Amino acid sequence: MGKKVTKKLVDELYGLLSPCRICPRACKAKRLDGESGNCSAGIKVKISSFHQHFGEEPPLVGRHGSGTIFFTNCNLHCVFCQNYQISQLGMGREATLEELGEMMLKLQNLGCHNINFVTPTPWVPQIVKALALAQDKGLNIPIVYNCGGYESLETLKLLEGVIDIYMPDIKYADNEHAEKYSIVPDYWDIVRPALKEMYRQVGDLKVKNGIAQRGLLIRHLVLPNDIAGSRTCFEFVSQHLSVHTVVNVMAQYYPTYKASQVPDIDRRITTKEYRHALTELERCGLDEGFRQTIDTIFRVNVPEWTDDLS
Ligand code: SF4
Repeated sequence: MGKKVTKKLVDELYGLLSPCRICPRACKAKRLDGESGNCSAGIKVKISSFHQHFGEEPPLVGRHGSGTIFFTNCNLHCVFCQNYQISQLGMGREATLEELGEMMLKLQNLGCHNINFVTPTPWVPQIVKALALAQDKGLNIPIVYNCGGYESLETLKLLEGVIDIYMPDIKYADNEHAEKYSIVPDYWDIVRPALKEMYRQVGDLKVKNGIAQRGLLIRHLVLPNDIAGSRTCFEFVSQHLSVHTVVNVMAQYYPTYKASQVPDIDRRITTKEYRHALTELERCGLDEGFRQTIDTIFRVNVPEWTDDLS
């Protein structure tokens, strides 16, 4: 479990909310004054569901599951988002920070091996404030920051020591594809320094008795027609982070949300495309990570969620 959250840290994070620059969009919404930003997030935290999740990577799931809390809204707008009802359509309900802290404690009491925030990016100040409340009541399991990789360095630096496990995506290897499919102008420029900062803070994934304790775990969703730029993504990880980085190469892409109307991504990937991505992973020397996650490689890992907030 990371360090104790201080009031100073909470104040610094809340200072980034108006005008909002919590994420790299820096859209300057005055969230403390009731405005919502590009991500549609306002000031009151909004949650879709929380539960023991058994569909995450095995080192997070263990025997008792990953204590996953799904937040509404997202700072990316992927046309193929598999959770689009939550991320784009606003499904969820407002919760107080006291309720959010209680959710964390309930998940810990259920035996979960970690608290897994998905997607925390627009809500970092509120999450950290609620985390402090939960820590005061005994929360002491690892904290997972499960995000799309489009993160502000300023925000990430403030999170040093608080986050135990970073689990970002690396979605694209160029800005043009990111603009077209996730409506974000500079993904490739942003994700590389963000991943470097995460790696600087937590290093390679450390697993004890099969359970992740600390470190970086990267997800890469293979897209049709190599739109994700898998080879370039893996080259970056191998050359600028570590050849020991655990990379979960995911095969479960399917054209949901708006993707069936978008040429080039309106189909699932082929076996050949997936195998090509794995070949590139090995070619980049990411063998250790690959072996560590080999049992996740062929898992169809569509996140489950419910409306049950009880
Ligand atoms: S977190 Fe949301 S409101 Fe804040 S800068 Fe990013 S998109 Fe704008």
